[in-house]
Amino acid sequence: MRCSFCNASAIISLRYAKLRLCPEHLSSYLERKVLRTINRYGLIKRNDKVLIAVSGGKDSATLAHILYRLKDHLGIKLVGMHINLGIGEYSIKLERASRELFERLAIPYVILSLKDIADVTLPDIVRMARRAACSVCGLIKRYLMNITAYMLNANKLATGHVLEDIVQFIIKEFLTADFDRLSKLKPLLEGTPDGRLVTKIRPLYEVREKESLTYAIVNNLPFVYDTCPLIDERMMVFKIRRLIDNLELEHPGLSIYFLRKYNSSFIKYLENLGMNKTKFSTCNICGMPSTSHTCGFCRLILRIGKDPLDVLARVRSQIETMT
Ligand code: AMP
Ligand code: ZN
Ligand code: ZN
Repeated sequence: MRCSFCNASAIISLRYAKLRLCPEHLSSYLERKVLRTINRYGLIKRNDKVLIAVSGGKDSATLAHILYRLKDHLGIKLVGMHINLGIGEYSIKLERASRELFERLAIPYVILSLKDIADVTLPDIVRMARRAACSVCGLIKRYLMNITAYMLNANKLATGHVLEDIVQFIIKEFLTADFDRLSKLKPLLEGTPDGRLVTKIRPLYEVREKESLTYAIVNNLPFVYDTCPLIDERMMVFKIRRLIDNLELEHPGLSIYFLRKYNSSFIKYLENLGMNKTKFSTCNICGMPSTSHTCGFCRLILRIGKDPLDVLARVRSQIETMT
């Protein structure tokens, strides 16, 4: 199988685009695709300081590498962060891969370890708070990613969500009729004017998981392919993911068509209904934007018998080691 652009042999076939690509042409294809997404949705402006959240997995490795390749063209500054959640050997491997990636790309970075900032691991918190692992993990990650960006004065926070992640969330929020969450699944989610909630961007919005995996492999990026040991495969999101994969096999290009429609018409409809306007007040403990009197993070920390302000002071001192 030959590459559609040169004589080298192709390593990936993209049915929806009717292309077969060699390693070199896959890389340039994805870099151009991400640049197009950035321009189409206005994700990045000149002089932005972008914090890349790296999990140690393939998607955020690909994201970091592509932004690294585009940074001079875009005229931006990059910083990185990784959160070690303390999930045994799994987290150790993820932290190692993240560090290696940042070092290789010479991106200044911060590592936050849950054990260092709160004296507990994610499995401890799940046990103590008696809540589902994925929801606790999501809450902690969202809070720490945002506060790191805020403390580092970054005006954009980039995550490695790929096309299938987004389509999967859209279908899930549809099925559970959660219109507030549904309206947030955009390539750019505006922060608050005071900068405390940092604008989130998803530059891999139109990149498929298979493309991101192949990119990470051909560019020899350090990443871990293991799945989180705390995940429950029976969760609805995994069934939805299989449904999307099967539909895409029979109808190549369906998910990208769906995603574009979602952005061009459905989101606008929700916006006209005022569905996208979250009213933020300020958390009475940490002072960060919150939809309730005390934010979810501070409530969680209180629930496990710790002091949120002490945790935040430790976050700050970890971040200051970098700056
Ligand atoms: P997930 O929620 O695990 O599907 O990850 C979605 C995105 O969140 C990833 O692509 C990363 O950009 C970011 N992310 C997830 N886990 C971490 C982590 N432990 N540290 C930093 N960023 C993360
Ligand atoms: Zn080629
Ligand atoms: Zn708070």
